[in-house]
Parts: sequence; structure tokens; C-alpha cells
Amino acid sequence: MELTCPQCQGVMAERTLGHVTTHRCDGCGGVFLARADLGGLVEAENDWHAHQSANTAALPRISSSMPPPGPVERSRAYVETLFKG
Ligand SMILES: [Zn+2]
Repeated sequence: MELTCPQCQGVMAERTLGHVTTHRCDGCGGVFLARADLGGLVEAENDWHAHQSANTAALPRISSSMPPPGPVERSRAYVETLFKG
């Protein structure tokens, strides 16, 4: 089902995040989320955080020949990905 954005009348593209289907506006980035999907999204958020901490890599040994670390691009929250791309 295609939704029209209530804010800018843009087309809201369907996106699936975990088990939850949302709609995101291509124009203004607004997100439509059904009430029932909010619980699923919170669950997905919690799963995501558990996964993140489980996969934390050990720090490498630091030596003077190492290049400086680049900027770390990491989402603070799983739901943040809803508003990207
Ligand atoms: Zn919009």
C-alpha cells in the first residue's frame, strides 16, 4: 500500500526494519509507524543493542607506527536507521 506524506504530499516508501514495516517519505524524511509496530520496533532496538555489545572487538595493541583511527560511523540507536538513506 502506498502512502502519501501528510506534510509534503511526497510518496512514502515502504521500509522493513526487523519484523516491522514502516513508511518513509522521500521528500521530507518523515516516518509513518503504526501503533502496533511500536512494540516490535522497541524489541528490535533491544536486540540490536544486545548484538552490538556482543560483537565489540578487542582493542588492538597501540604502537607509534599505527595510523590514527578514522571517524567511527556508528548509529546510536537502531531506529536511527529509519531516518537514513
Ligand atoms: Zn514528506
